[in-house]
Amino acid sequence: MTYTAAADRYETLEYRRAGNSGLDLPAFSFGLWQKFGTDHPFQAQRDIVLRAFDLGITHFDNADRYGPPHRAAQQFFGRILKRDLAPHRDELILSTKAGNPIGAGPYLRGASRKSLLTSLEHSLRDLGTDHVDIFYSHSPDLTTPLDETVGALVSAVEQGKALYVGVSNYAPERAHEAAQLLRHAGVPLLVHQPRYSVFDRRPELDGLLKLAAEDGFGLVVYSPLAQGLLTDKYLDGIPAGARARDSAFLTPDVIDDTYRQRASALNDLAVQRGQSLAQLALQWVLRQPQVTSALIGASSTWQLEHNVKALQFPPLTGQELALIDEHGVH
Ligand code: NDP
Repeated sequence: MTYTAAADRYETLEYRRAGNSGLDLPAFSFGLWQKFGTDHPFQAQRDIVLRAFDLGITHFDNADRYGPPHRAAQQFFGRILKRDLAPHRDELILSTKAGNPIGAGPYLRGASRKSLLTSLEHSLRDLGTDHVDIFYSHSPDLTTPLDETVGALVSAVEQGKALYVGVSNYAPERAHEAAQLLRHAGVPLLVHQPRYSVFDRRPELDGLLKLAAEDGFGLVVYSPLAQGLLTDKYLDGIPAGARARDSAFLTPDVIDDTYRQRASALNDLAVQRGQSLAQLALQWVLRQPQVTSALIGASSTWQLEHNVKALQFPPLTGQELALIDEHGVH
């Protein structure tokens, strides 16, 4: 069926400025890490992506690694871009990442100039676009001089193959160094992509949140629902089709009694507030002004529609935040 974008797609979602840049990102961005490989039906994936766009989600996050097999998620997105979203390419912020291993060869891993720029070429071909909006160094590579990695990001922009650059999973010290080098080169660091959730406080503890404010970059935080653990889906077992059943990245052993106690207590608080645990968890990451966008995944359009309502609830009070700390921290 021919796709027609929803006329009201910009009416509900909040858009937030990424650091000191001029770019606004949707409060919720959509990532294609899991369930967007060849192991899931194209039609279901297409429905989710188009629903996301109809809900005002303009930012779609990808990486050369996402599949399975590697690169499949970008190829899938390329199909949908060509078929449905081509008239809206200028409304989209497409990101990709390079540097995590995607094969056995020496240039299929690491943050060398060779690895990053070769990967970007493949990603552009897979996505069927002449540029991405954000090009990331996926992970720090301590065996490659940071100058070389930053030089490759700058070249991507100078060659017109990326509009902005980002880093992901970088410790604050290295992110700060990268930000300085990039600023000096005239290509400011737009965003950092760390993991952050009620269950993973590292960006608060290691100083990344503070650094983002000081260095003027935004945070696009991934796995804000801890891959689904911060929803009510695992309170009574592991439902069929859930990630904890079929992903190497979320194994069933984490769903133990300690987890259930913590999740139940957080769920009770959410219910008292008239929302779901997923909505509470998303509201929690977005309370930080440095967090530009919560980067979510979804395996159904229902999850998406439900999750993007998270900001429609009253702000979390000091007392509620203290209770979340009590149950969210190990
Ligand atoms: P989330 O923490 O948002 O987890 C999403 C998963 O939770 C869904 O796929 C679904 O899993 C489940 N879920 C979502 N909403 C609900 C709901 N309302 N009720 C019940 N279950 C729900 O994020 P992800 O871990 O998927 O990460 C998001 C994106 O972040 C990735 O796609 C990727 O783009 C990026 N990322 C980046 C990394 C990096 O190194 N830079 C690393 C990891 C992710 P299901 O239904 O299948 O159980």
